[in-house]
Amino acid sequence: MLATTADVNHDQQQQQQQQQETAPPACCTTPITPELLLSNNKAWAAEMTRTRPDFFTSLAEQQQPQVLWIGCSDSRVPANQLLKLDPGEVFVHRNVAAIIHGNDINAHVVLQYAVEVLKVKHVIVCGHYGCGGVAAALSDAQLGLIDYWIRVVKDLHLQHEGELKGLSQQEKCDRMVELNVHASVKAIANTPVVQNAWAKGQELAIYGWCYRLSDGILQDLDIKIDSIAGVAKAHRVQPKKA
Ligand SMILES: [Zn+2]
Repeated sequence: MLATTADVNHDQQQQQQQQQETAPPACCTTPITPELLLSNNKAWAAEMTRTRPDFFTSLAEQQQPQVLWIGCSDSRVPANQLLKLDPGEVFVHRNVAAIIHGNDINAHVVLQYAVEVLKVKHVIVCGHYGCGGVAAALSDAQLGLIDYWIRVVKDLHLQHEGELKGLSQQEKCDRMVELNVHASVKAIANTPVVQNAWAKGQELAIYGWCYRLSDGILQDLDIKIDSIAGVAKAHRVQPKKA
């Protein structure tokens, strides 16, 4: 049977729609140069100034974020954008797989500043499904320095081997992302910085969330520690006297 013009047009429309749906974002296909970035910045600053004339002058005076975000460095999980928050509204620390190592001076300096100086009320640890760092920890590939970084995730895998048994590789990886978020939440609650804040009556809660790359939705993992009662006795410290 011969195709009519309407059929051909319909097929072309469908093809175009499919191409649009599968095409990567423009940012992935346009070559990015430093000149382009600087020009983007000028355009953004001009637009912000046009729509909110006081925006930069008030921000330059001080920052008062109520949220500390601890997330993965993955370029697809930008804190401000997915929380729909402006510059100045979220203090951010990101590393591969949102891991909190006891000896990571960078993460602990950020935490101390956020809690003691900025007095944030909410610390959000956010992992994401499809995390390459967590997937690497489940493989036996030798990747270099990152092998040291993700060793804690390998240890976590060992601890939860029973629970993970029988899951597909994808399900195992997703569950490990959640377990890793929980471990980071506990690691933060275990710090003297957080426990001192609670002892002083400061309002402070640590939450575990997980971001889904496929639809942009944050999952609340129902993990929340907001007092010393949520900390294992072995990890409690005597509060420092003011
Ligand atoms: Zn990741």
